[in-house]
Amino acid sequence: MEPEKKNSKKTAKYMPTIGLEIHAELKTASKMFCSCKNNPDEEKPNMNICPICMGHPGTLPVLNKGAIKHVLKMGLAVGGKLADFTEWDRKNYFYPDIPKGYQISQYKFPLISGGELSSVALERIHLEEDTAQSTHDQHEKSLVNFNRAGVPLMELVTKPVIHDAETAVRFAKELQLLLRYLGAGEANMEKGEMRVEANVSVATAEDTATGKFGTKTEVKNLNSFRSVERAIAYEIDRQSKVLEAAEKGGTEKIVQETRGWDDTKQKTFSQRSKESSHDYRYFPDPDIPKMKISEIPEFAESALRKEMPELPWAKRDRYKKDYGMTDKEVAVFVENTSLTTYFEAVVSPFNGDAKRIKLTTNYILSDYLPSFDQNNAIPPASFSELMSMIAGGEISSRGAKDTLALLIKDSSQSARVVAEKNGLLQKSDAADIGPIIDKILTNNAKAVTEYKAGKLASIQFLIGQAMKATKGAANPDVVKKILIEKLG
Ligand code: ADP
Ligand code: ZN
Ligand code: MG
Repeated sequence: MEPEKKNSKKTAKYMPTIGLEIHAELKTASKMFCSCKNNPDEEKPNMNICPICMGHPGTLPVLNKGAIKHVLKMGLAVGGKLADFTEWDRKNYFYPDIPKGYQISQYKFPLISGGELSSVALERIHLEEDTAQSTHDQHEKSLVNFNRAGVPLMELVTKPVIHDAETAVRFAKELQLLLRYLGAGEANMEKGEMRVEANVSVATAEDTATGKFGTKTEVKNLNSFRSVERAIAYEIDRQSKVLEAAEKGGTEKIVQETRGWDDTKQKTFSQRSKESSHDYRYFPDPDIPKMKISEIPEFAESALRKEMPELPWAKRDRYKKDYGMTDKEVAVFVENTSLTTYFEAVVSPFNGDAKRIKLTTNYILSDYLPSFDQNNAIPPASFSELMSMIAGGEISSRGAKDTLALLIKDSSQSARVVAEKNGLLQKSDAADIGPIIDKILTNNAKAVTEYKAGKLASIQFLIGQAMKATKGAANPDVVKKILIEKLG
């Protein structure tokens, strides 16, 4: 560990510890225990409801196997232990968003135990049902929308092994990416499809090193990565100040509680004291059969593995190794799967030719990305052709950029045809360039004399004149060659 710096009190003296609890709505056709549509984009309230998800008496829940499969695949991706036996429990509490009076969740037998993601150790991943959404209007009335009630919800809990806000955010972003790669969820934080709760405590560095953490608070309503980062930073600072004041005889203490994040004030605030698990009186749900995973063929590990896509970290490694990309370049591609599909289609005819692959990376990232639209993209073959033309010296980078801009507007004709029609091809033909150079030599007698007297740099000036005369269309290497011949 780094030595403490005397003058940065609050960061050096106390070490923060963070554990995350992340909920993610899973992408399935129907809800977790009924056949209602699971549609996060339904705007009209209470459209997708039925007696089961409304908690009417006498109804029986039926498990959604697709949701279980998503969680099992997630478990495989993070290297966790897949349960063989699992059951569902009732988590009892009273609130209008849960008309049954309990939420169906998993308590003792989560689907996944352990595992690791983004170098953060995981405690568990389990499956539960989402609750309804309540809104409180300005007339002190509360409205409840049950479209979300009963939607499959994955909960992932990390171990308390994170010690800074940036790592927490990096973890949450990686989880979002993984959910998307697995097709398990959209995980948009702004839409509440992924919800991050941050448990934060601080203790002296010595105590933290021996696993003696401080009292934690749990921060909720974080609906962006930025809020996650700021709320954690705020809590670390607030708690450190309380501890510091206590050392000097202050009476305030950190209490274990749930705090909300006020995005306008950029502050956390106390919401309620934290309930313990025994408050919920968890017990196995008698209506849902217990499950032995190994008895269900579609949950067999071999079957699941066959359905696993390439995972984000594997893709990063491959892009670095096969395409020579930097971490920064890789990051843009890995987060944009339609762009990677496009990129791979463009480079596939290059048979690993590093020069054209590098050109493709550069042109996609700096020139094409802002207007890239997967549904209306330049045909990959045309993009490949343009890259080959640059690599072969048939077109200058200026000409290529102009061609690309034209293709973005209309790609019904190939790159070569567009470049030809618009006079953007590089002139490499000595028969074309020769006469232009003769004229330049006549008009620039001074530079010619200087060159002949030994000032070799004058040739750069003459090349510049030739490029200007051809509006950049001449191949500078060919120009130089002809100049040297004619001057020599
Ligand atoms: P609780 O019983 O209060 O829900 P858990 O032990 O189940 O607490 O942990 C919930 C989350 O809080 C986990 O992500 C865990 O890593 C984290 N956590 C537990 N103790 C601490 C602590 N002292 N400081 C920060 N995070 C913690
Ligand atoms: Zn329903
Ligand atoms: Mg807990």
